[in-house]
Amino acid sequence: MGTAHHNGRSGAQTQPAAAHALASARGADVLRRLLAFAFASAFLVGCGPGAPSRLNLRPDVVRPRPGVVIFLVDGLPGCRVARGCAEGWLPNIRERFCDGGVCVAHAMTCVPAITYASIATLLTGVEPAQHQLIGNRWFDPVSACFRCYVNLAHYRCVNADYSTPTLYELIQPASSASIQAAHVRGVTGDFANWAVSGVMWLFHDFTAIDKLTATTLNDVAQWANWEGRWPTVLTCYFPGLDTVGHHHGPDSPEFHRGMEHIDHQIGRVCAWLQRQGLLETTYLVLVSDHGMVAGGRPGHIDLFRLLRDDWGRKVTRRMLQDGPDAMRHRYYDQFDTVLNNQDGRRASLHFRSATGWREPPGPPEVEAILTTPPPAQQLWNLPGVDLVAYLASDGAAIIRSGRGLARIEARPTEQGPEYRYLPVPADVLGYLDDLQLTAFVQAGFHSSRDWLGATAARQRYPDVVPHLIPLLHVRRLGQVVLFAQPGYSFVREHGGHGGVDGEDRQMTFMLAGPGIPPGSTLYTARAADLTPTLLDLLGVAPPPGATFDGVSLRSAILATPDTAKTEP
Ligand SMILES: [Zn+2]
Repeated sequence: MGTAHHNGRSGAQTQPAAAHALASARGADVLRRLLAFAFASAFLVGCGPGAPSRLNLRPDVVRPRPGVVIFLVDGLPGCRVARGCAEGWLPNIRERFCDGGVCVAHAMTCVPAITYASIATLLTGVEPAQHQLIGNRWFDPVSACFRCYVNLAHYRCVNADYSTPTLYELIQPASSASIQAAHVRGVTGDFANWAVSGVMWLFHDFTAIDKLTATTLNDVAQWANWEGRWPTVLTCYFPGLDTVGHHHGPDSPEFHRGMEHIDHQIGRVCAWLQRQGLLETTYLVLVSDHGMVAGGRPGHIDLFRLLRDDWGRKVTRRMLQDGPDAMRHRYYDQFDTVLNNQDGRRASLHFRSATGWREPPGPPEVEAILTTPPPAQQLWNLPGVDLVAYLASDGAAIIRSGRGLARIEARPTEQGPEYRYLPVPADVLGYLDDLQLTAFVQAGFHSSRDWLGATAARQRYPDVVPHLIPLLHVRRLGQVVLFAQPGYSFVREHGGHGGVDGEDRQMTFMLAGPGIPPGSTLYTARAADLTPTLLDLLGVAPPPGATFDGVSLRSAILATPDTAKTEP
């Protein structure tokens, strides 16, 4: 069940849904036996940090040359990993990745920095504006579906909710396997573990869930022995650490221990790969889907109350995704505003237009709704709100904060779209505080990649300019997107992500394997670069017409360490 409960707030609300889904599908008796089995398995798997796997691959099992093992750790902040390696409390990650491969110094996940969006970006090479999964929750006003993946009944719906080919599909007929993940479209061997991990979620045993991922390697090995081949790509997804962060905050001893635990599990898997003789031919990848920002009880921004009581909107945040379409349409037709705030540090608003939900309201209508309330009730003046963005036209967005108002503009070119930031009348992003960046901003339009290079380090809002306009065109996002300041969230949580602060956005991105210079550093990369890079390393040509937003990092990471270290 993996991500089903991954952001933690939902344990109580999702278990009945889980039990209901099971009971209706298979009958109460089957449910009882399954749960008994799951309890027993969870108990057996849940004790201790985990011993090395004893099962070996048969010698005649075909080993891919090369292959890939992806460690996908939910909510593992990039800067904390660097510190843990330097200070020596992440010894396995240090040995295999920091000392043994290449680390990206400033790796940026997508906007919004949230699990379902980001993992889709990692596995497709495109940003959310292309794959359209803009969060763990989204509202589609045309189908009147308010999707929420964070429960057992719906977490796998993600695979039908986007059509961009996944890494697993792109490498076919080569085989692949995935442990505990929700995004599995095209995967050959799907090791979901939903029953056993479901019991662990129930008891909030999040580190046991991460241990289960490494233990499941046994099942993958058994499967590979049966199939006669080891998968070309294996994804080991660790969903537990993120939940620890939401419950206790990223600065807590619990989160620190969770990171040490992940390190141990990565060590277990690597030791097994080494024993099977797989390491010399395997690219190891360590990535996370986003960072983690400390929150706190006073840091809750109550948008629902504001919209209902102060603005007088007929607002709902109820997530209806099942039942007859007509019923859901009838429900949402009663409202003029749909609020999507449960993803944490990102919220978005859908407004009904004069003609109904089918056609979105135009920029003047949206602007009027936002600017009608008195200044103290305007979104950008609320305590804890960091940035508010909405479209001024197809090619321009307005961004507002307590600092004032600025614009972002896009223009098409033969090499792809370019963007400029107009800090007038206010420098909302604070980019003019930096002399070097001031010159860059004043030079006008730049490519998306150049914005990444210019802002990835040192800026409070890294790599944000090229993302907002494409994102605001996604119907599932709504007309307005809001991001929370550090210490704040649109839900009550001790830690969260989804905002545009550097701590939300900085992900872990490390690679090791054949030909990659040990101990090297790459200045910057994006989550969207993973799939193009892996295809390139595997020697798989992208399909004709593929429109990746990411780029292959192969030549950059195979370069000598000195070249790779050069900052732009
Ligand atoms: Zn996540």
